[in-house]
Amino acid sequence: MIATYDGLTGLVNRTLLLDRLEHAIGLARHHEHRVAVMFVDLDRFKGINDSLGHDYGDKLLRIVANRMRNLVAESGTVARLGGDEFVIVIEEVNANDDLSSFVAQIIESVETPISLAEEVLRVSCSIGVAFYPEDASEPAELIKQADVAMYTAKKDALSGFTYFTTDMSERAKTRLQLENKVKRAYSDDCFFNHYQPIIDARTNTTIGVELLLRGKLDNEPLFPDQFIPVLEELKYIIEVTRQAMRRAAEDLSSWYSQGFTGFVSINLSALHFKTEFDLTGVLTLLDEFNLPKEAFRFEITEGVLMDDSDNALRQINRFVKEGFVLALDDFGTGYSSLSYLKRYPLSVLKIDKSFVNEMAPGNANEALVTTTITLANNLNMSCVAEGVETKAQAEELIGKACYFHQGYFYAKPCTAEEVAPLLFKAW
Ligand code: C2E
Ligand code: CA
Ligand code: CA
Repeated sequence: MIATYDGLTGLVNRTLLLDRLEHAIGLARHHEHRVAVMFVDLDRFKGINDSLGHDYGDKLLRIVANRMRNLVAESGTVARLGGDEFVIVIEEVNANDDLSSFVAQIIESVETPISLAEEVLRVSCSIGVAFYPEDASEPAELIKQADVAMYTAKKDALSGFTYFTTDMSERAKTRLQLENKVKRAYSDDCFFNHYQPIIDARTNTTIGVELLLRGKLDNEPLFPDQFIPVLEELKYIIEVTRQAMRRAAEDLSSWYSQGFTGFVSINLSALHFKTEFDLTGVLTLLDEFNLPKEAFRFEITEGVLMDDSDNALRQINRFVKEGFVLALDDFGTGYSSLSYLKRYPLSVLKIDKSFVNEMAPGNANEALVTTTITLANNLNMSCVAEGVETKAQAEELIGKACYFHQGYFYAKPCTAEEVAPLLFKAW
């Protein structure tokens, strides 16, 4: 007998799913109704699996599977394709029914906290929906369209679910154009460094700068929020960062010769941690320009820690062993889990600019900023506030004993020549 059920969850497997879907489509064709296919993918499940262990990962999958099965009950089929991917088929959907409230129910049930291993876990999920007959008429094709929609839902992340639309191929086109631009910028060496000062508000001096990449193509500026994700996807980010660090070392050596003793903080991407980071190359570079290790710092985001925690820990330890300072960037926007923070030898927390920007007496952002500063203190980490735009914000932060500031209030990111005088400025 061919196995038709998934051993772990008891749900229908892919083979039986295709069968059932074929059958449902046959009936729908005959009775002129529709069939909905929902692709459900858990967010960041891998991080949970890696940090809590596979036993708990399996338990979590079983719990989530049960919840979905209970919800769907007799109205359809729930299948597990493997990993954290599930497909729900709803038969007999009426012409005007868009299933939004049903999808919302699934999301709510998946996201209800689960207590496991003395931790309360919350998994979120992304869902993509495709319909027979509008989106496709073959089982495998329908699942694929739902998967495409799910992928978009994951990127948009606001509502957590998306319908497959022809608009998606429109967006795929825009995306392709951007990709071509970035490829051209890459082969024509169109990226350059901007620097933004980081200030110590106790001494009113510049302690370092953050390196922020810029690009220019056909006289049009390119901004990192656009090109960094593409560079990552194309895996060019490693080479682009290497070149940026070389320019930074050159700039720093000129500033050091003028008496500056601070650092350049370099943003690393998740890809640097999925591959082996070339620390030897960095050490050689610093050596070549006669710079101490304090001259370079690195910033990573929580995504790095979540994605593959064992490997991340190992790589982070390599940096720390060499004496480099590592900062956790955009703190507060990701998981911000205490247990993660404790696990990694990071010495700086950067409070995300969105919290600092929108901080007002008594609001939630203010509470978050205060909590983050306390957290950093308790973990023996120092704290840099990003996105300081006004004097009032700077004073507020000083009142909370957060003295390292970065933001438009002090200076916008600018070229090496423009930043040079700011390195020696009394703020
Ligand atoms: P980030 O690391 O969080 O960098 C800080 C961003 O905040 C920069 O945006 C900076 O221009 C902006 N910013 C600074 N002060 C203020 C302020 O007072 N108000 C507001 N609203 N914004 C402020 P930018 O330069 O557009 O960079 C965006 C993101 O792109 C960076 O966010 C970083 O994640 C990424 N990025 C930039 N350069 C690199 C790089 O060389 N490598 C990698 N992997 N990522 C980079
Ligand atoms: Ca950063
Ligand atoms: Ca940041």
